[in-house]
Amino acid sequence: MNAFENLAPATDLRVDGDRLWGNLMEIGRIGASSDVELTRLALTDSDGAARDCVVAWATEAGCEVSVDAIGNIFMRRAGRRDDLSPVLTGSHLDSQPDGGRFDGACGVLAGLEILRTLNARDMQTERALEVVIWTNEEGARFHPATLGSGVFAGAHTLDYGLSRTDADGVRLADALQRIGYAGPAPCGGRNIYAYLEMHIEQGPVLESASASIGAVTAARGRRGYEITLIGEASRAGSTPMERRRDALFGAARLISLVHDIGMMHAPLACATVGMLQVRPNVHNVVPGRAMLTVDFRHPDDAVLLDMDARLRAGVVRVAKDGGLDSEFRQTVSQTAVRFDAGCVAAVRRAANHLGYPCMDIVSGAAHDACQLARVTAAGMVFIPCLSATGRDDADETTPELIEAGANVLMHALLAHALEGDRYAAAVARA
Ligand SMILES: [Zn+2]
Repeated sequence: MNAFENLAPATDLRVDGDRLWGNLMEIGRIGASSDVELTRLALTDSDGAARDCVVAWATEAGCEVSVDAIGNIFMRRAGRRDDLSPVLTGSHLDSQPDGGRFDGACGVLAGLEILRTLNARDMQTERALEVVIWTNEEGARFHPATLGSGVFAGAHTLDYGLSRTDADGVRLADALQRIGYAGPAPCGGRNIYAYLEMHIEQGPVLESASASIGAVTAARGRRGYEITLIGEASRAGSTPMERRRDALFGAARLISLVHDIGMMHAPLACATVGMLQVRPNVHNVVPGRAMLTVDFRHPDDAVLLDMDARLRAGVVRVAKDGGLDSEFRQTVSQTAVRFDAGCVAAVRRAANHLGYPCMDIVSGAAHDACQLARVTAAGMVFIPCLSATGRDDADETTPELIEAGANVLMHALLAHALEGDRYAAAVARA
């Protein structure tokens, strides 16, 4: 809990939703691959163009812009007390191939819109506010994801970040140089008072609950595995049932087990077999080899550990029953993140004050905020995406929801950037 727990944000302060939507449409055209999708892989020309555009807008809005050594961009609006640590907000501008146009961009541009709104009202904050564009959030071009924020928060060294290479062998350091974003500022190592990020949910939970705001309490931890079962390929017509060493039958039992493990810990758990490779994959041969991947998620690491143990025991059992050998490899281990209680409360309170239906939600994906949670009080505002677009991973939303998210983000940021009763006094004047 922080000092602002009981502070009611009684103010009519609102962002300009039309201006924000107009900016989003403009940025959405950079790298567009369809009306609603774009391909703006990290540190490509289109990522560089999107960065240039936002930096120009921020400069116009009077921000001081700095770029750090991993290419993270900080757009700062000074506070009354520049000796105090700043409050940060932001997200990313890079995308997946054919990614959603609001993924990342809405968090960055909402931050910029908030600074413009404060400018228009001539509203001063105690602490400086900084809008950040994090480098290579998606991990689509350079592995791993949330790389820029990860280096900033000390999860990776700068050398590790700069030496990542893409599929063509291009080093991240060279890609940064090429688009002019290898900055002089040191990466991380400074005090941040709080970090709040607005992001599109990328799931169906808010929409089905008719909530326009999600107060994100946690992000699911993740475990990934690659399991190979090895039996014996033999003829379908002449191998008696009791003689078979059928690797695919073993894989089928494991798929069923993974589903059961997920259901056992529902609704917070997710358990998925996303990939299955069978050899020889011929219609009249008993499969001799099957490889499957398992993806487990849960916001509580203790539960993930239990899911892990059940899977490992299951593999031993299935292999023994089926006369199979097995290879078990863990490929991913990400711990769960619990967001700061004061940040979560600030989001809930802002939504309630503004009259937006709000619910607590757990993030299924990792975001830059998960990295920032290592070094500061961090939280997230989710807005719903709409299933009506017909894409499973649809990232579409409406101008009204974006505006709602930005308003909530603004009030939650102000609760941190204005100190105690000064906040109450400032919002009373606004
Ligand atoms: Zn994103």
